[in-house]
Amino acid sequence: MTKDIATPSRTKAIMDKHQLSFKKSLGQNFILDANILRRMVEASGVTKEDGVIEVGPGIGALTEQFARRAKKVIAFEIDQRLLPVLDDTLSDYTNVDIYHQDILKANMQELFETTFSDTKDVVAAGNLPYYITTPILMAFLEKRLPIKTLTVMMQKEVGERLAAKPGTKAYGSLSIAAQYYAETEEVMTVPATVFMPRPHVDSTIICCRIRTQPPVQVEDEQLFFTVVRAAFAQRRKTLMNNLRHWIGKKGDQDALKAAFRYAGIEGGTRAEMLSLSEFAALTDGLLKEKV
Ligand code: SAM
Repeated sequence: MTKDIATPSRTKAIMDKHQLSFKKSLGQNFILDANILRRMVEASGVTKEDGVIEVGPGIGALTEQFARRAKKVIAFEIDQRLLPVLDDTLSDYTNVDIYHQDILKANMQELFETTFSDTKDVVAAGNLPYYITTPILMAFLEKRLPIKTLTVMMQKEVGERLAAKPGTKAYGSLSIAAQYYAETEEVMTVPATVFMPRPHVDSTIICCRIRTQPPVQVEDEQLFFTVVRAAFAQRRKTLMNNLRHWIGKKGDQDALKAAFRYAGIEGGTRAEMLSLSEFAALTDGLLKEKV
């Protein structure tokens, strides 16, 4: 087995050899600890029969760890300068394909019909570029791609929001979306010191095990997420006040109150106290009362 890419000396050697500089605008903080990456691969539950979608391979540190444990790896990298580097660093692996593409513009559905037609399951993973962490997460979750897990490294503060429970400061619309589509688990904290260049904050690894069925039943899923976003519009305001603002001055205030009664929720509650099932009940109430 070749030496891990994710060590300080190898990373520096690769950067020097290819005369590469880090692009801050693309969130390029490369990881220098292969043990952490192996924990990530482990958490993803990938097997030798599975395919992997990786977001942002950089110089290939996580890619090679997956290549050793999976059937096939497809990695999306936006930075053209990294293509010859990845050709070089991953030359020992015949089961890796690099796509030079923005992950947010990729037609992932097509991947499942073609490239992954001969793999058992597919996992998605990445050490996410911090400037588009949420859009990437939502792209994977909302599209309901047939993936088994989504195992991602991100700023600790965002990771905490994904896994947060009601009644905590970190709990918000991102927590609800993530927990609606997946079971989320914090795998480990990753200190800022294991990245090159070193970011200002620590990171965390979150594993989302994609659900086959949402944990709550809602009649109108789109309305559910609209209500959740409206409820958290101003965290210091009560739930009733946020929803009043959402329906506007011309909205039916009595119907709004009736919807709260239907759901058994006090208007003076704050959105952060509501569980997924309470948001589901409130949404169904709003639908029933035609708010
Ligand atoms: N996987 C490597 C590691 O762990 O060391 C690099 C991770 S680095 C935090 C994020 C990577 O995502 C960079 O290589 C960056 O160029 C790439 N990237 C940034 N925006 C992207 C996008 N929209 N689509 C695909 N890759 C992107």
